[in-house]
Amino acid sequence: MKTILSREIRLASRPSGMPAAANFSHAQMELKTLPDQQVLVRNLFMSVDPYMRGRMNEGKSYVPPFELGKVLAGGAVGEVIESRAPEFKVGEVVTSNFGWREYFMAAPADLHRVSREIQPLSVYLGALGMTGMTAWVGLNLVDVKAGEVIYISGAAGAVGNVAGQLAKLRGCKVIGSAGSMAKVQFLREECGFDIAFDYKTGPVVEQLKVEAPDGIDVYFDNVGGEALEAALTALRVHGRIIACGGISGYNEAKPQPGPANLFNMTTKRLTMRGMIVGDAMDRREEFEKEVGGYLQSGKLKNRETIVEGLDEAADAFIGLFKGNNLGKMVVKLT
Ligand code: NDP
Repeated sequence: MKTILSREIRLASRPSGMPAAANFSHAQMELKTLPDQQVLVRNLFMSVDPYMRGRMNEGKSYVPPFELGKVLAGGAVGEVIESRAPEFKVGEVVTSNFGWREYFMAAPADLHRVSREIQPLSVYLGALGMTGMTAWVGLNLVDVKAGEVIYISGAAGAVGNVAGQLAKLRGCKVIGSAGSMAKVQFLREECGFDIAFDYKTGPVVEQLKVEAPDGIDVYFDNVGGEALEAALTALRVHGRIIACGGISGYNEAKPQPGPANLFNMTTKRLTMRGMIVGDAMDRREEFEKEVGGYLQSGKLKNRETIVEGLDEAADAFIGLFKGNNLGKMVVKLT
């Protein structure tokens, strides 16, 4: 192979509170020789995700922390441009965890082949990727059924909008909250939510009282904090909570106290189930078949916010905590 200069983004310092541009640095790597049994990939799109914020802190959570001074990692879609492994041919499209860089070399076991038939290829980072699968796994986790009322926080984001659309396909009544009127409109008009409200315009508990006077059966939690507390009040007896995320607390130096009304768990005999999508990778094929089918038939809409260029990746990531994205936040690299 001829030498390739690959630009990449590294973790320069650990953020304190909201991440800032100074926490990231730009560097360039020289890729010279493709080892036998490896594949050279040029990334087309990379993902920025809220979970990466946890990995920027010191100390292990469910995944090890990013290392200071080293390239970051995350979901990416790329094209094979050279192969010394029989499993992959030049021109094939793969997903990987080698984001935040332009090119990389990897073994076949670290790559997942996807089809060009579904476009745009960035969909493999969103509705047909990790976040879409999170929505699908979450709904299955508590067996969401037709006729149930489900409330989803962070509803206009990557996980939330797909969770809502999939719940509609299951025959649920779907309520979503998001941080602007444009997002509320998107949920109602494009995603088919029955009800959507802006959580910034008044207490969530009061808005839920108005929008779901008879309560909710399921709460899909992407946010934690105030939304979780409101859902605990709104849930009916034997209600279920999908504990997917808690973005309202990710930039807190010290965790906030839990919901003041947690005793609802007891009085209403509620179930709260935590999930990590990575645990369900053995079901990826089933997910891709079902959700890929919805996308191809137009039953599921893929919405993304595309930011152009590796240089903008850090800003795109920071933007997740400012609500800058509608649907999946994706960085286009070529
Ligand atoms: P999103 O696409 O939803 O992007 C983040 C969104 O969160 C923003 O657009 C913003 O929307 C909202 N937000 C940001 N800060 C706050 C805040 N302080 N309070 C309320 N809302 C806020 O991200 P994802 O869909 O990728 O992730 C959603 C959640 O799911 C996250 O908590 C994430 O960690 C979790 N997750 C969990 C997984 C698992 O395996 N358990 C896997 C993937 C994601 P708005 O304008 O509406 O405020």
